Amino acid sequence: MKNDLKEILLDEAVIRSRIQELGKEIDDFFQEKEILLITLLDGAIVFTADLIRNLSIPLRLDCLRVSSYGDSTDPETAPRILSSLKSDVRDREILLVDDILDTGNTMQKVHDEVMARQPASVHSCVFLDKPDRRENDFKADWVGFSIPDEFVVGYGLDYAGRYRQLPYVGTLKPVIYEDS
Ligand code: 5GP
Ligand code: MG
Repeated sequence: MKNDLKEILLDEAVIRSRIQELGKEIDDFFQEKEILLITLLDGAIVFTADLIRNLSIPLRLDCLRVSSYGDSTDPETAPRILSSLKSDVRDREILLVDDILDTGNTMQKVHDEVMARQPASVHSCVFLDKPDRRENDFKADWVGFSIPDEFVVGYGLDYAGRYRQLPYVGTLKPVIYEDS
């Protein structure tokens, strides 16, 4: 699987230390207030698993499934929310967590849906950000890493369902796209 990669952009040590920093920043911001952390399946599961183990504030976890790429590397322009939350959002401090902010359409959509349910607040944390690709004004409150406009895999991010288990983030060799 490692042979399929062109380049590793973020290795395990770099990711681990950045997530420790993010954990401290989020802890400091919420100051012991309990949050409802809403993670976007499937891509954010690895990041979320590591992030919550670096948080000391009380939290509850909920998941949302949102459609995006299918088997291509181009996002659908209109992401759809495919599942519903089990928790009541009203008057809660919400933290939305996703793997990567690309066009921003997914996070904007989820943010709007959650806002409509009258939470106390909505903040967001993304593992990766590709600012060059943004199609709206969405800004995440916490960003792990800003990266250039390249399709990346690993650490939860997939290509056609694969590569999510890689503990680092990298780009794929062009031949991988040609073969599938
Ligand atoms: P957006 O709605 O911001 O355009 O896209 C967000 C979703 O697209 C992310 O949650 C992620 O699932 C997917 N995505 C965006 N860029 C990449 C990428 O470089 N690699 C992978 N694997 N998925 C991406
Ligand atoms: Mg995603």
